[in-house]
Formats: sequence, structure tokens, C-alpha cells
Amino acid sequence: MHSHKKIIIIGGGIGGAATALALHRIGLEAVVYERTATLREVGAGIALWANATHVLKKLDVLEDALKEGDRVTNYQFFSQRGKELMNLRVDGFEVPAIAIHRADLQALLWRKLPLEQTVLGESFERFERHKDKVITYLTSNLTDEGDALIGADGLRSRVRVQLFGDAKPIYRGMTAYRGLTNYIPDSYKPGYICEFLGAGNGFGFVTIGKGRMYWYAAVKALEGQPDASIGRKQELQEMFRDWAIPIPELIATTDEVNILKTDLYDRPTLRSWSLANVTLLGDAAHPMLPTMGQGACMAIEDAVVVTNCLLEQSDSAEAFRQYESLRLLRTKKIVEQSLQIGKVARIENRVFIAVRNTLMKLLAQQFEKDYQILHAYRV
Ligand SMILES: Cc1cc2nc3c(=O)[nH]c(=O)nc-3n(C[C@H](O)[C@H](O)[C@H](O)COP(=O)(O)OP(=O)(O)OC[C@H]3O[C@@H](n4cnc5c(N)ncnc54)[C@H](O)[C@@H]3O)c2cc1C
Repeated sequence: MHSHKKIIIIGGGIGGAATALALHRIGLEAVVYERTATLREVGAGIALWANATHVLKKLDVLEDALKEGDRVTNYQFFSQRGKELMNLRVDGFEVPAIAIHRADLQALLWRKLPLEQTVLGESFERFERHKDKVITYLTSNLTDEGDALIGADGLRSRVRVQLFGDAKPIYRGMTAYRGLTNYIPDSYKPGYICEFLGAGNGFGFVTIGKGRMYWYAAVKALEGQPDASIGRKQELQEMFRDWAIPIPELIATTDEVNILKTDLYDRPTLRSWSLANVTLLGDAAHPMLPTMGQGACMAIEDAVVVTNCLLEQSDSAEAFRQYESLRLLRTKKIVEQSLQIGKVARIENRVFIAVRNTLMKLLAQQFEKDYQILHAYRV
């Protein structure tokens, strides 16, 4: 049985918030420090597959998430001109896959946490170990002492820097645009994520509840490439001008301010991401390209696994060793698969595109099976 008294979590994103909630539910004190002063996830949607929604169910969040977001039943792929390549069923589990606004999901998780265990507007600076305690130093001269520290502070984690050094994440040559619009095309089938694959670029969309459509585009670009002088929206309109309906319409009905642009990175997987009573979780530990839509799902899985280990092991360092050994292989595999899919998405040669599209049609059953295995995983 555990004897950890207090766990400090850095970062109140989806991973940090899910971990705090999981710990809170088993009666462990968890304090989350989030650097932003007001909670605001980026204005975009997110897909969570059954491997993550079963955790949301355990955390008693799924029912509310289904009220806010939409169920997802199918993942359908098309060529740039709108020819169907594959239509994969992603339902059929005891819990549904969902698509939801990120801010709605984050709010649902935070709402269930006791106020005194969540501190906004405090940025982590460093930690020190004193015997078996961890002292955490935050901005505004605040310090806090805990029995263990979890860095859930994302891709550019400062906790990770202190543990393993300042290696930069790897830019993978693609940038993502994400948009929100109230325009739902008549042809849209509820429950479908529709993804169109072009030459070095792609475009997808899905509804995320309350009459909102979330779309995303991935394009080849240089790191930090500035917007064109015509502006982000017009640039996208030109890029996707001759793509299948309803892609041009989705971009046209989106306000420029509702279009986000994010360069895409990952990192080589670590052999270990804990040191004694300090560990990492979510993107801080294993950032991946979003090509499989699994980054947040992995952070949510991590949350329950680390909680179970802290429950089972009286020693935090032992608990983190166990957590890591349970998570390393699964997350490594998904980081690597996401990178491989990213490479296929970047193909520009017409012949290779024809081969890719043909293979997708031929191997649809195998793809569906692979996705089912991935989504059937239960922590
Ligand atoms: C274009 C795109 C689409 C995606 N789509 C999906 C999808 O459909 N499904 C899916 O599962 N995943 C998706 N992902 C991946 C997903 O967004 C991430 O994997 C997920 O957000 C990771 O959660 P996290 O809590 O680990 O990190 P983050 O979400 O990055 O949260 C980290 C938190 O830590 C805070 N923080 C950072 N530094 C400090 C500090 N020094 N002190 C205090 N707080 C700090 C930040 O403010 C932030 O709130 C997508 C990613 C991208 C880029």
C-alpha cells in the first residue's frame, strides 16, 4: 500500500489534469502547477479512441465528454479528388471513440479537481532533492515540497531538461493547420472522421459537438515558416482550391482568427524517463507526430498507469520504475508508427502516391485490424 503523501505535477494539460484526477480519486494528494493564468486549451478539436475513452470512463468523465463532444464510428480516407480509399470502423468497443473540443475536455477534467490542488499562473523553474523529498521552485518565489514530482509539461518540458538535458525536439518537415467552423456540410455523415490525402499534404475533418466542425491540414513546410503575406486563410484556400468538396467550403467558412498553425515535432524515444522520485508523463516523456491521433490518448493512459503504480508501491522511485517499464514499449511503438505514417503523408511523387492509394484500398482490412488492436488496449 502507498505511503506517498504528496505528488507535485507540473503542467495542467490533458496529461497533467488526468493524472491529478486519477490520483485524487484514490485519495492521494496531488497539486498541479500550470503556467498559464487562465485555463485555455488551444481552440481545436481532438479525437480520443477507445484506448483513452475507457480511462475517461474510469475517471467518471466519459458521460459528460459525450454530452460535450460527438461519438466517432468511422475513419474514412479519400484521395485528394474525393475517391474513397478506405473506410475503417473504429467503434464496436465497450466505450465509444469521441471527438471533442480540447477546451471542453480540459474543463471537464479540471472541474473534478479540488480547487486547493490546482495552482494557475505558476511556472516550474527547477527542483532539488532533499533526502526522499522533492522541493519544487516556481516563479514568484513559490516553493513546494512533495514526495514525488511528475513533469507533465509538454513537448518542451523543463522537468525533462533538468533530468536529461536540453536536446531539441526534432522537426519532421510538416506543419499543421487547425480550424473551427459552424458550417456542417449536408454531405457530412455524423460519426465520421474524413481524411483526404494529397501530395505532401492532407486534410481532415470531424464534428466535435454543439454544431462545431473541426478541420485539420498537414502540409510540408520549413520549420517556423512565416505566414504568406496574403494571410493564413487565403494561403490555405489557394493550397486546397482544387481539392474535393467540402474542403474549400470548410476553409472559406472559417474565420482567420480560428486557424491555428503548429509545427510538428517528436523526439527519439528514451530508454528511461524517471530518476528516483521524479518522472515524466505525456508529451514530456514521449512526444509523437499526430498522424495516429494518439498523443493525448497516451498521456491519458500514462495517467492511470502511474497512479496504479503509486498505489501499489510504497516507494515513489520504485513506483516510477514500474510505471516506466509498463509504458516504454507501447509508447515507443506508437511514436515510431506515427513517424512512419508521417513519412508516407509527405510523399509527393505521383507514382508513389498511386501506389500508396492502391495499397490502402487493398490493405483496408489489415489497417482496420491494426487500429482495432491499438484501440483495444486497456490499462
Ligand atoms: C495538430 C495536432 C493534432 C493532434 N491531434 C490529436 C488527437 O486527435 N488525438 C490525440 O490523442 N492527440 C492529438 N495530438 C497530440 C496531443 O495534443 C498531445 O499529445 C497532448 O496535448 C499532450 O498532452 P500533455 O498534457 O502531455 O502536454 P500538453 O498538452 O503540452 O500540456 C502541457 C501543459 O504544461 C504547461 N507547462 C509547460 N511548461 C510549464 C512550466 N514550466 N510550468 C508549469 N506549466 C507548464 C503548459 O502550459 C500546458 O498546459 C495532436 C497534436 C497536434 C499538434
